[in-house]
Amino acid sequence: PNTQARDAKPRLLLMGLRRSGKSSIASVVFHKMPPNETLFLESTTRIQKDSIHSFMDFQVWDFPGQLEYLEPSFDLEDIFGSLGALVWVIDAQDDYLDSVARLNRTILTVQQYYPGINIEVFIHKVDGLSDEFRTDIYQDIVQRISDELSDAGYENAPVHYYLTSIYDYSVFEAFSKVIQKLIPNLSTLENLINTLGNNCGFEKTYLFDVLSKIYIASDTRPVDMACYEMCSDYIDVIVDVSELYSWDHPERRPKGDQIQEAESHVVLHDDTMIHLMEMNKYLCLVSVIRNRESKEKRGLIDLNCRTFQDGLNEVFSRRWEQLEETNHLDGG
Ligand code: GDP
Repeated sequence: PNTQARDAKPRLLLMGLRRSGKSSIASVVFHKMPPNETLFLESTTRIQKDSIHSFMDFQVWDFPGQLEYLEPSFDLEDIFGSLGALVWVIDAQDDYLDSVARLNRTILTVQQYYPGINIEVFIHKVDGLSDEFRTDIYQDIVQRISDELSDAGYENAPVHYYLTSIYDYSVFEAFSKVIQKLIPNLSTLENLINTLGNNCGFEKTYLFDVLSKIYIASDTRPVDMACYEMCSDYIDVIVDVSELYSWDHPERRPKGDQIQEAESHVVLHDDTMIHLMEMNKYLCLVSVIRNRESKEKRGLIDLNCRTFQDGLNEVFSRRWEQLEETNHLDGG
C-alpha cells in the first residue's frame, strides 16, 4: 500500500552531468537556499527520495555517476516505472555535446519502454549568457535532439525545452510547467480558479505548492512574472510567520491540534492587494486583486475561497486519501 500511496504524487527525476546544476536547483527550489550559496555545494547526490515533503516526489541523480542505467543489468522498471517526468539539466555555459549525446540515448531508451514519460530539458545557467547566445544555444540543442529523434522515428516524443537559471524565477516557472503536465485534472482546476477569479474580481490567482513555491495551476489569463514573484514572495512572508501557519515546517506534520488554515492579506503601496489562503498541507491559493470594489468585499472573497477549497479537495480527494495514508505510515 505504501508504494501505491506514493504513486499519487507526481514523480520527478532530475538527471544530468556532474556540475550541471542539479543539486543547486534542488536546493534553491526545495530548501530555500540562496542561489549564491550553491557555489559551495559538494557535487554529490545528497537529495534523496522522500526527503522532500511536498506536493511532488522528487529525486536527483548524477549521470554518469554511481550508475550506468543503460546496462542490461539495471532495473529500468525501478527507475522509470512510476515516473511522471525526467528533467535533464544541461549546463549551457559549458560544452554540452556529451550531455546532449547522453540525453539522446536516454530518450531513445525511455521512448522505447516508457513512452508516457515527459522529457523536460532544462538548458541551465543561462544567466551568464547574452540573449543572442541563449537563442543560438537553445536552437542548436533542440536541433540536435530532434534530428536524433526523427532518425529513430520518434518525432512525436514528449520532449520540451526551457531556459533556466537559479538566479531568477525561470527555474520555478519551468518546474511549474513540468508539474502542470502531470496534474490529471488540470483543466477542471483551471476552470475552478477561473470561476473563483471572475466571482471575486481577482486579477491573477495561483495555486502554489507551499514548500517549493512551484504553482501547480493558475487561472488561464496570461502569466505575469511580476505577479508571480509578488505572490511567491508573500508565501515566504506568511510561512516565516510560523505561528500563523498550522503545519510544522519542513516536516509538514500537524503541530498538535490543527488550527484553521492560514488566511492572510496585505495591501501594497500601489494599492494592490495580495490574498493568501491555505488549502491543505501542501497547497495554498494566492490571488492578486487590483479592482477597488473587489478589495472591499473581503467576506465574499473568503467565502468564495472556502467554496473553492471544497471543490479542490473534491478534485483531489482520492489523491489526498492516499497521501494521508502515506503520511500516516511515514509518521509511525
Ligand atoms: P550538480 O553536480 O549537477 O549537482 O551541480 P551543482 O548543483 O553542484 O552545481 C555546480 C555549479 O554550478 C555550482 O557552483 C553552482 O553554483 C553552479 N550553478 C548552478 N546553477 C546555476 C545557474 O543557474 N547559474 C549559474 N551561473 N551557476 C549555477
